[in-house]
This record gives sequence, C-alpha cells and structure tokens, in this order.
Amino acid sequence: MNSVRAITIDLDDTLWDIAPVIAEAEKRVLDWLTRHCPEVVDRHGEEGLREERRKVEAEHPELRHDLTVMRKLTLERVLLQCGYDAALAEPAFEEFMHARNNVSLFPDVTPALERLSRKYPLVSISNGNADLGRIGLRRFFTACVSAREVGVAKPHPEVFLAACKRARQQPGAVIHVGDHPYQDVLGASQVGMRTVWVNRQGETWDQDFRPDMEVRSLSEVTEFLFC
Ligand SMILES: [Mg+2]
Repeated sequence: MNSVRAITIDLDDTLWDIAPVIAEAEKRVLDWLTRHCPEVVDRHGEEGLREERRKVEAEHPELRHDLTVMRKLTLERVLLQCGYDAALAEPAFEEFMHARNNVSLFPDVTPALERLSRKYPLVSISNGNADLGRIGLRRFFTACVSAREVGVAKPHPEVFLAACKRARQQPGAVIHVGDHPYQDVLGASQVGMRTVWVNRQGETWDQDFRPDMEVRSLSEVTEFLFC
C-alpha cells in the first residue's frame, strides 16, 4: 500500500469500547432527570425513555443519521409530556455528552495516532456524536466528518467521499480503518478506498466481500504503513 496518501478512521469501537460509555451516559441523564425533573423518571423509567427514543426514531426516519437531534427530541418530548420546559433538554443532553466523551482509549490508540499523523493526514469518520476535542485527540486529525454534518450515515458513499475531499485525496489513495464490516469495510470499499478491518475481539469474518487488511490493533496498521 505504498500509494496511501491519507487515512480515515472510525471512532466508536475502533478507538474505544462504546457500549459501556453509552450505558454510563444514559445513566447520568437518568440521574440528572431524577434530580431536576423527577416526574419524567416516575412516568417513564429507564426502559420507558429508550422506548420513547425508538418512537422518535420511527417518527423521524429522515433524522436517523443525527443521534444528537434524536436524543434532544426525545428529551424535549418527555419533558413536555410531564409539563416541564422543553429547554431543559439542553442541560440534560449536556450531561449525556459529558459522559459520552469520557472514553477509555484502547492502549494502542494514542501511540498509533501520534505516529500516523506525522506522516499522513488523518480524517475521522463517525456516525456517532463523539467530540474529539473533548476527548483530547483532535490534534491528531486534519478534519472530522460526521453523519450529522453530511446528512447521511455510513455506509452511505457520501460520508466517505466527504472525508476524502477533506483529506484532499482521491478515494484510491485513502485507506479507511474501522471495526464494522458494513459501516466501515463495505462503505469505504464501495467508493474505491482501501480498507482495514479492526477486529479487536478476534471475530470471524463471514461476509462475501473482504477487507484489504485485518488487524487486531492500530499498532499493526502503523507497522504495516511504516515498514
Ligand atoms: Mg465503529
């Protein structure tokens, strides 16, 4: 892969484990609501709030790529249902974002980003709402592309093409690194990018398309691109 001129990198489950982070962030929102708007919690409970979010998603399929708006709309809805000011959705969501960006990086991440960013422009691509500035990784990235900003989510080609544009490279000169077979590997390969599947859990690949490379950590990507 000598002709690699830029790298795009997925965030959730590629740089950190996302499930425990979201669980903690949702718990923090519940705690905040219990303190400030107890009727919301009395009426819905934790599972009820998730159910309300599913309803909002079903009612607004055009906004499914925008997880920030989905969560805010859900909060506004349950606040209004219980007679509270919908504006309280903002501080409640801020509680979510604070915890959502409190991630534990996989140990290979910072050394790999340090090394890769010295040689290549790095562009993040995410369907989620992580904030690399808050996480402390923004300095490694030339640009950050999100489904929210593009208006569609991975694996839609537009997301990958937007990232290549931000890297000022043609897709054929860009390699995408991510954990998800469809959202990352299929999406990037469809626009002609090369792909690295980050398989941290040692899962079996069972798709009829293939990544160009499979790794267990970002250290392997670094070793490969610098050898
Ligand atoms: Mg991911």
